[in-house]
Amino acid sequence: MAGDLEGKVGLITGGGSGIGRETALLFAREGARLVVSDVNPESGGETVELVQRAGGEAVFIRCDVAKGSEVEALVAATVEAYGRLDCAFNNAGIEGDTRATTITCTEENFDLNIEVNLKGVWRCMKYEIEQFLRQGSPGAIVNTSSLAGLVGVPRGNAYVAAKHGVIGLTKTAALEFAKQDIRVNAVCPGAIETPMLNRIVGGSEKGYEMMRKMEPVGRLGKPSEIGEAVVWLCSDRASFVTGLAMSVDGGSYAQ
Ligand code: NAP
Repeated sequence: MAGDLEGKVGLITGGGSGIGRETALLFAREGARLVVSDVNPESGGETVELVQRAGGEAVFIRCDVAKGSEVEALVAATVEAYGRLDCAFNNAGIEGDTRATTITCTEENFDLNIEVNLKGVWRCMKYEIEQFLRQGSPGAIVNTSSLAGLVGVPRGNAYVAAKHGVIGLTKTAALEFAKQDIRVNAVCPGAIETPMLNRIVGGSEKGYEMMRKMEPVGRLGKPSEIGEAVVWLCSDRASFVTGLAMSVDGGSYAQ
């Protein structure tokens, strides 16, 4: 039976770890050939090996999404590798300073959050959509926002601002290119067990326990649970879905 992404070429940023890595494995499971990209060549290369070991087809291309020239080159290299681009998961992100309040947040922390988490997504969309238009074919983009893109989080002002911004960018691009059959959606993960979350809780069991207690379902999410939503949004099964900010959070946003 053909997979949901059979014949498609995918691109994933932040593919070296956590949500990006698991989504890469799911893209391959569903039949996509893909480019795994990350700022970190070691972890990105490991993801490619995992995909290949599972029988999938992937190459690694390094890219820092905070640099426009690197993002432009990433999309060009994807087309060079596979001839086209059909779906992209703009997922690279950082947590920044998770202790700073509105008054203790530094200019550097604010700027870094915006450069990577917000402008990084815009840069990816800019070159990906240009490529879709050049091909004259439909395309699907999923951007990683967050539960923090929908609600405020004390001590997260710059991250929250960037992730709210991702939803605005998503809705705008969705409307701008709807007529060309280019769909643009966002996922808003709740607390997902990844290296980023481990850094946020300081690796402590007490920290994890506190997190679990806040979850309606009583547990944290798995990276693959985000990946499954991304696969669906990228697939033709979601052909009438665009401009959506989809919570994948075990019910947290419903509280
Ligand atoms: P992760 O395990 O830290 O993975 C993020 C990946 O992005 C890492 O491989 C990281 O490389 C890479 N990266 C960082 N800065 C980059 C840049 N400038 N250019 C390209 N790649 C870069 O985190 P994750 O939890 O999987 O997070 C993935 C996305 O989900 C992020 O956008 C995050 O904000 C979002 N999210 C996560 C959660 C959660 O609970 N985990 C919840 C909501 C939203 P290095 O490791 O080398 O820095």
